[in-house]
Amino acid sequence: MEQKIDIKSMSLQQLTDQLIQMGEKKFRAAQIYSWIHQKLVTNFDEMTNISKNTRTMLKEQFELVCLKQVACKISSIDGTRKYLFGLSDGHVIESVLMRYHHGNSVCISSQVGCRMGCRFCASTLDGLSRNLRPSEMLDQIYRIQQDIGERISNVVVMGSGEPLDNYENLISFLRLLTDANGLGISQRNITVSTCGLVPEMYRFAEENLQITLALSLHASNNEVRKTLMPIANRYALTEVLKACDNYFEKTGRRITFEYSLVKGVNDGQKQADELAELIGNRNCHINLIPVNPIKERDFVQTDAKNVNNFKKLLEKKRINVTIRREMGRDIDGACGQLRKRYMDQLKEENRDGGICTDRCRKDASD
Ligand code: SAH
Repeated sequence: MEQKIDIKSMSLQQLTDQLIQMGEKKFRAAQIYSWIHQKLVTNFDEMTNISKNTRTMLKEQFELVCLKQVACKISSIDGTRKYLFGLSDGHVIESVLMRYHHGNSVCISSQVGCRMGCRFCASTLDGLSRNLRPSEMLDQIYRIQQDIGERISNVVVMGSGEPLDNYENLISFLRLLTDANGLGISQRNITVSTCGLVPEMYRFAEENLQITLALSLHASNNEVRKTLMPIANRYALTEVLKACDNYFEKTGRRITFEYSLVKGVNDGQKQADELAELIGNRNCHINLIPVNPIKERDFVQTDAKNVNNFKKLLEKKRINVTIRREMGRDIDGACGQLRKRYMDQLKEENRDGGICTDRCRKDASD
């Protein structure tokens, strides 16, 4: 069977060209695009101002990607929601809604799994399954906005996956998400986080976008960084920082450096001094994250007192630094943990010949 066209991944221009080629009028494309990207419909029959014949044609030619909610866990501490979504090929991904005073923020996945191999991260434990399509990245936000009935104002691409390792799809997704004919989320309210893929960071600087770039630094020198992040074997810190500086020069957007504190590995005074030296007087911001321990690794979280000390040491050197508030601590907060647990459970139950769906539904209402 011929593959249907993924309509939700198409720009308004692409959709217009395609529909005209199929003999439709130009204004139809704008109507359909609005149904998909503003009214967030989940099937073609909801497009009530489109004739039945056209809807039938759309169903035959196009696929309307729509994620299935497999589970949703709600934190009783801060209202954070962790969603597990099912894709049409059976894979599952996770997304997180965080509620702040300044608005609703969604953290999305960019790949199914990840191949970057960061030692402390649960998303990478089973490697990369596949890239997400633009429609699959968008729909994480669309489904969450529909679920809570409130506008999403901020998006962070900090879930499972390395966004710059799925470059083309990421860029299409960002253009669709910020399109005034769609949700029109402000570019300045979007952050893309990378472990530091240098060539793609240079490319990203040329896209004429106003997106915030976050770099996962996690160490103050190459030696320690190599023990935490395999990507450090490919690109030295000087190269990565040069790419950050270039991004700042080209876009005017201040870089955020993420630094996950691991007890006894990167959280000492020596490291704080070295980090301050490394960052120098760059116009940037450091986000300290106490590492979220995963059971497959024996990394230990730096305790609150030492996190504060580390922060103070940096502040003394006039560095902009914040401690990331831990959200949803009671609901498998760290990247990829909920998905990992779900997958392990699936494997376990398949081994026993059982099916998991009921258990997951129960989980969702827990
Ligand atoms: N691939 C992207 C996005 C990953 S997740 C990147 O590397 O930036 C977003 C951030 O969470 C990254 O800084 C990542 O290193 C960090 N992270 C992942 N697992 C973590 C854990 N268990 N504890 C603390 N931070 C973690």
